[in-house]
Amino acid sequence: MWKDGFGRRARKLRISVTDRCNLRCVYCMPAQPEWLPKSGLLTFEELARVARVAAKAGVERFRITGGEPLLRRGLPEFIVILRSIPGARSIAMTTNGLLLPEFAAALRDAGLDRVTVSLDSLDRDRARALTRRDSRDGTLAGIEAARAAGFSGPALKINAVAMRGVNDAEISQLAGWARDEGLSLRFIEFMPLEGDRIWSRDMLVPAEEIVSRIAKDYPLEPGVREPGETCERFAYRDGRGEVGVIASVTRAFCGDCDRIRLTADGGFRTCLFATEARDLRGPLRSGASDEELAALMGSAVRLKGPGHLVASPAFKRPDRAMNAIGG
Ligand code: SAM
Ligand code: SF4
Repeated sequence: MWKDGFGRRARKLRISVTDRCNLRCVYCMPAQPEWLPKSGLLTFEELARVARVAAKAGVERFRITGGEPLLRRGLPEFIVILRSIPGARSIAMTTNGLLLPEFAAALRDAGLDRVTVSLDSLDRDRARALTRRDSRDGTLAGIEAARAAGFSGPALKINAVAMRGVNDAEISQLAGWARDEGLSLRFIEFMPLEGDRIWSRDMLVPAEEIVSRIAKDYPLEPGVREPGETCERFAYRDGRGEVGVIASVTRAFCGDCDRIRLTADGGFRTCLFATEARDLRGPLRSGASDEELAALMGSAVRLKGPGHLVASPAFKRPDRAMNAIGG
């Protein structure tokens, strides 16, 4: 079992399978990204080996992310491999949905438990401005495809990043749409991880404001956040589902963080905001044993800091943008 110096156990591993993407969301990627060299990306076998070593150390949940994970060819086969790992209790994926019409059924058959689709606006022009591509209809089609493939209830969620002056006027409308669709929507506070350095405190819409905007139109029950979860959940008073906020900046949840991360090029990170990664690709490719890999990861977990400093002047950005870390 891997525990850090603050008693937090590593239970969840986010695996980024690529830094590439078919969108260029302004809160994530630079407009002109420089991709990681393909030869530097871990193979599925290498990614799965890390996952297997992590599972042996008590990691139970895996989330596949990127970049856009569905751009990585053969993803369903990778899910089959993850599924076969003893101790892997759940496998989830975050996607922009564009390729779900092609892959949703295969992902379901492969054993993917849950899918989260990112959709920040229902307005076509606004979605185009946000993602720098004409993405809205494709993402909506992806959500439909996920449903048709059997992802429903807690197995299908929607993520929306709230940005002041960009989509904040639409918060309540988005919430209303998700309610009508029977989908669980989670608003994420905008974090300073974007490639083009546009983040400012003013652009962040605090979770408190998000909740009060929704509650004006759709009364809500006070929310709860389960230990280790990122999302605070609020139930609609009329019993028609729930909505969540991920208050990564204003109500940071580092105190019970149980997440660790693997970047597509084999960097092991113990925090989304970590300014450095422990390289696993070198050891993987030079014959390290499972015990040696476990020791490398376990010692990195032990050094995990108490939390990020986004809200403080001492904050230092990570050395790469969100798409190359894995959200
Ligand atoms: N391409 C996939 C997608 O968009 O869902 C998966 C990768 S994306 C990096 C994972 C999640 O991170 C998405 O829900 C996205 O909205 C969110 N995200 C990206 N940049 C963010 C930022 N600066 N602040 C908050 N959330 C962000
Ligand atoms: Fe691509 Fe997802 Fe980043 Fe948007 S948030 S640019 S879809 S990786």
